[in-house]
Amino acid sequence: MDKETLKSLLYKNETVADQAPEMLAQADTFCEGYKTFLNKSKTEREACAYSEELLKQAGYRPFVPGQVLKAGDKIYFINRKKCVLAATIGRKSLAEGFHLNIAHIDAPRLDLRPVPLYEGSDYAYFRTHYYGGVRKYQWPTIPLALHGVICRADGTTVDVCIGEKDDDPVFCITDLLPHLAAKQNEKSLGEGITGENLNVLIASTPVEDKELENRVKLNVLRMLNETYGITEKDFTRAEIEVVPAFKARDVGLDRAMIGSYGHDDRVDAYPALMAEIETKDPAYTTVCVLTDKEETGSDGVTGLNSMYTFHFLQQLCAAENVDYITAFQASKCLSADVTAAYDPTFSDAFEPSNATYAGRGIAVYKYTGARGKSSTNDAPAEMVSYLTRLLDRNNIVWQIGEMGKIDLGGGGTVAKYVANQDIDTIDIGVPVLSMHSPYELVSKSDVYMAYLTFKAFCEDCE
Ligand code: MN
Ligand code: MN
Repeated sequence: MDKETLKSLLYKNETVADQAPEMLAQADTFCEGYKTFLNKSKTEREACAYSEELLKQAGYRPFVPGQVLKAGDKIYFINRKKCVLAATIGRKSLAEGFHLNIAHIDAPRLDLRPVPLYEGSDYAYFRTHYYGGVRKYQWPTIPLALHGVICRADGTTVDVCIGEKDDDPVFCITDLLPHLAAKQNEKSLGEGITGENLNVLIASTPVEDKELENRVKLNVLRMLNETYGITEKDFTRAEIEVVPAFKARDVGLDRAMIGSYGHDDRVDAYPALMAEIETKDPAYTTVCVLTDKEETGSDGVTGLNSMYTFHFLQQLCAAENVDYITAFQASKCLSADVTAAYDPTFSDAFEPSNATYAGRGIAVYKYTGARGKSSTNDAPAEMVSYLTRLLDRNNIVWQIGEMGKIDLGGGGTVAKYVANQDIDTIDIGVPVLSMHSPYELVSKSDVYMAYLTFKAFCEDCE
């Protein structure tokens, strides 16, 4: 064999910049829309509302069970204001299966506890309970915003969003000064800041009446009552999420990356939604699912472990008089979630040949899980083959890997909940630096490759 033939035997893992330089400008343009999505969608409810707005603009109509649909029709369904289902009816019968693109729109954060408000030394605070896998030491001393809903005594609901406008106040969790941190410094990184330390400073001005107790707390309640018409009891029926107050921004002199809260998993959700919206007249019926509750294990009525997605698919089958079991068995699913990007500063955590890298395209994962692939989908080789050949045919830059070194940890995705329904499923996703931190980094080129992947899958007619 000559040198070139020998070289061609190797599997190469190269950057998008080297493999598809002509696509970098398109990636830049695509990511402007993505940054808007990030800034408008810091919670699952906001991501859901903004997605619905985009779907309506694109001509999607609300799904009505039993309604007869024809090829090219675009419909959507919102599950309890927290999950999005959007579909384009294909030319083929549903008996030949759906093409599903799934991502999640909840993100790690701090939730207010049911009785959150207290006063200490003339400061008022909200107590929080963290949601998903957070490294607690990362949350003090950054500007925070409050987003969510409060249900009032009369049954009405009010939206809350404080800390996002330029002239809004922000909130903060405090930390010890280094001068007095000798004891704290002796603790492990995981214990330096505890869940009970994650208290958000809300206010420090008391009501005027000196006869009263808890005067700062009362002042907070007075302000909230005047603005939102709520009392302390209404926190028991509220969902307020504490999230970083910063906006998505370009990172680096070359602007090749985006820094933001909540890339996990908006960085897959937005490209999946855009690909669905732009799909016209597909062969297979396409369905984009943006789900909730992934970060806490997908349980609950808005998590993928519930039947809501499969009920939607079953209802589509019923309207076409197709046996849904037959449809599920013929279906394919790309289960999209972020994964770790190799970080040379923490190279100890990775195995370089099986790592995925920011800037090297969409990451394909045959399996996830931990401790000997426990709790993973582990896609069949045939499914990996289907996807990688689809990507190659469409000149999409991809890489394959695992999250990190064996037995260091691991993580699961929603893939297994789909596969457990007898649907062929594979994990894909955009690699993230500082994943699950308040300010995660992704490469714009990978975001664009994710979009091209979803699009190729929607348009596939093989
Ligand atoms: Mn995720
Ligand atoms: Mn996550």
